[in-house]
Amino acid sequence: MSEALKVAEIFGEDVFNDTVMQERLPKKVYKDLKKIIEEGKELDLATADVIAHEMKEWAIEKGATHYTHWFQPLTGATAEKHDSFISAPLPNGKVLMSFSGKELIKGEPDASSFPSGGLRATFEARGYTAWDCTSPAFVRHDAAGATLCIPTAFCSYKGEALDQKTPLLRSMQAINEQSLRLLRLFGNTTAKKVTPSVGAEQEYFLVDAEKFEQRKDLIYAGRTLFGAMPPKGQEMDDHYFGTIRQRIAGFMKDVNIELWKVGVASKTQHNEVAPAQHELAPIYGEANVAVDHNHLVMQTLKRIACQHGMKCLLHEKPFAGVNGSGKHNNWSLTTDDGKNLLEPGKTPHENVQFLLVLTCILKAVDKHAALLRESAADVGNDHRLGANEAPPAIISIFLGDQLEDVIRQLVDTGEATHSLKGGRLETGVSTLPDLAKDATDRNRTSPFAFTGNKFEFRMVGSRDSISGSNVVLNTIVAEAFAEACDVLEKADDFDMAVHDLIKKYATEHQRIIFNGNGYADAWVEEAERRGLPNIKSMVEAVPALVTEDTVSMFEKFKVFTKAELESRVEIKYENYSKAINIEARTMIDMASKQIIPAVIKYTKSLADTVLAVKEAGVDASVQAGLLKETSDLLAATKSALDALSAVTDKAAAMDEGEEQARFYHFDVVPAMETLRTPVDKLEMIVDKEAWPMPSYGDLIFEV
Ligand code: ADP
Ligand code: MG
Repeated sequence: MSEALKVAEIFGEDVFNDTVMQERLPKKVYKDLKKIIEEGKELDLATADVIAHEMKEWAIEKGATHYTHWFQPLTGATAEKHDSFISAPLPNGKVLMSFSGKELIKGEPDASSFPSGGLRATFEARGYTAWDCTSPAFVRHDAAGATLCIPTAFCSYKGEALDQKTPLLRSMQAINEQSLRLLRLFGNTTAKKVTPSVGAEQEYFLVDAEKFEQRKDLIYAGRTLFGAMPPKGQEMDDHYFGTIRQRIAGFMKDVNIELWKVGVASKTQHNEVAPAQHELAPIYGEANVAVDHNHLVMQTLKRIACQHGMKCLLHEKPFAGVNGSGKHNNWSLTTDDGKNLLEPGKTPHENVQFLLVLTCILKAVDKHAALLRESAADVGNDHRLGANEAPPAIISIFLGDQLEDVIRQLVDTGEATHSLKGGRLETGVSTLPDLAKDATDRNRTSPFAFTGNKFEFRMVGSRDSISGSNVVLNTIVAEAFAEACDVLEKADDFDMAVHDLIKKYATEHQRIIFNGNGYADAWVEEAERRGLPNIKSMVEAVPALVTEDTVSMFEKFKVFTKAELESRVEIKYENYSKAINIEARTMIDMASKQIIPAVIKYTKSLADTVLAVKEAGVDASVQAGLLKETSDLLAATKSALDALSAVTDKAAAMDEGEEQARFYHFDVVPAMETLRTPVDKLEMIVDKEAWPMPSYGDLIFEV
């Protein structure tokens, strides 16, 4: 049997997908469920009972003993509580395997310790999980055996969102409604649904598990908090797209097989810029499924790495001095009959629609730049965004030469009469060029780039959920579409009105377009001149969630209530403070229990050497010099350690909230850096044998 055939066979074998449903469910139930999936109606209990029964039978055949409602609370990770299928023992002492419709569609995990930002306290303590039947259930095989996983949303008793999925589903509804409105205006009467399509490219690092275990910072914080740069970093660019080493290749193979089985279309894999850094990209899918799949990707990478004696680091910046990891969130809008709204058209008519969609997106991103930036704010991402690494913290849009030229013509003259590619098309009102798929070079420094038929949002952190960014993208574009439709639906001369609107949006929002080098200092100045926000850190980004514009938009499209947004703000500050507190305490722990004792031992041996050498009547100045240098750095380390302890204690004693988070950011983080500096210098001096943990070189070059 050929390898290709096997892949086709295993793909989706553990998924309760359409094929399985069609085979197993009674025709009427299947039809009802399909309708619900397509039209977003509620499932009645009788139908749910039938589906649950078939799902259970199927899962048991796959070896499942348990089921779980798999959900995405605001911890950033996924959560699950497992229940076995067994019923209460019967009089004969045996049990049955049972699973009811009620258990399928609704769960009540004891979820009181998930972050709710005060939502549950205000309303009702319980949290509920509800089946998202648009994301298929699957059976996961791991050390726990086989478990039927049911993707669910997680809400409070009154329906407030306590998770990432609920707002995402709401935002998908908003963009669907507004996109359909827009399509109807352009004469499309056939499309019934428009869905955001999302493909997330995932970057990660792999390190040897034994070495990982020797680093408390990796264990507790997921990143190194100390570490001198090895003689070689990524400067040679010899890792990027390089041949994949055998150990890594074996890992990737197993990851792919596991992902394929659960229906994740893992497609591309390659080495990334930094040594030990890699990337995996699946084929894009519907936004909510893509979010679920990205969680599965992250979990699978971690699980399989362990099986190969490695650890997968998903942190945005595991190592200072080499490239960090992110996630490119590719986003487009697809109709149920397969048309992509971001695909430049072949006819003048389609081109006008495309240009309207494009300029609506310019408007949306310009208006809500701070909110979009916030959607990628994450503790670890502070090390990337704005830190001279891909991408900058300033939101701008890369359109490519051809499209930028078209926009320029529209702005300058009111019409675009030619394209750089030379095509020319009459539209009746103005002249618009033929927009061939732009094959010009990619701009890797842009945070939001148009790449032919999709936008690529490159700010998301590698460890973060892509949900938040897609909620924002869907909603801000829905708002822009709605505002355009409000105008166009009333227009007497539609063609003229569209033309004017495209020109208006292009003119008013051209400042957001930037095709140059996003890393250059000149861009920071230029962006400031243009009035674009440059938000350098997570704590400074969070307020964008509750500005007047944000709240009214989210409320209008029923994605978030004000209370939900406020709860998220609270949770974000809390999460930030907790994360930095852990990092600071880990540094304190490592410095006091490992590094300082090791250096003291080393100075003692140096001092002994100095004496012995002197006794032998030989010049001991090198040894003495080393001893002095080491002792001075040791003193600097100790005083920085004391300062960090004091400032961390002060931070921890503050009330939770914005002020505390800002104190962690502006006071504790710099104190951590002050401690790191002498320690990294010491690492370069102290005998390698005496250093208490594996070095950067050991970690990233010896996987
Ligand atoms: P790149 O453009 O970054 O070189 P690809 O073209 O392979 O790489 O796409 C990267 C990611 O974008 C993949 O996950 C891919 O499935 C996804 N993607 C491709 N087309 C679309 C689209 N129309 N909408 C959303 N995602 C897409
Ligand atoms: Mg990409």
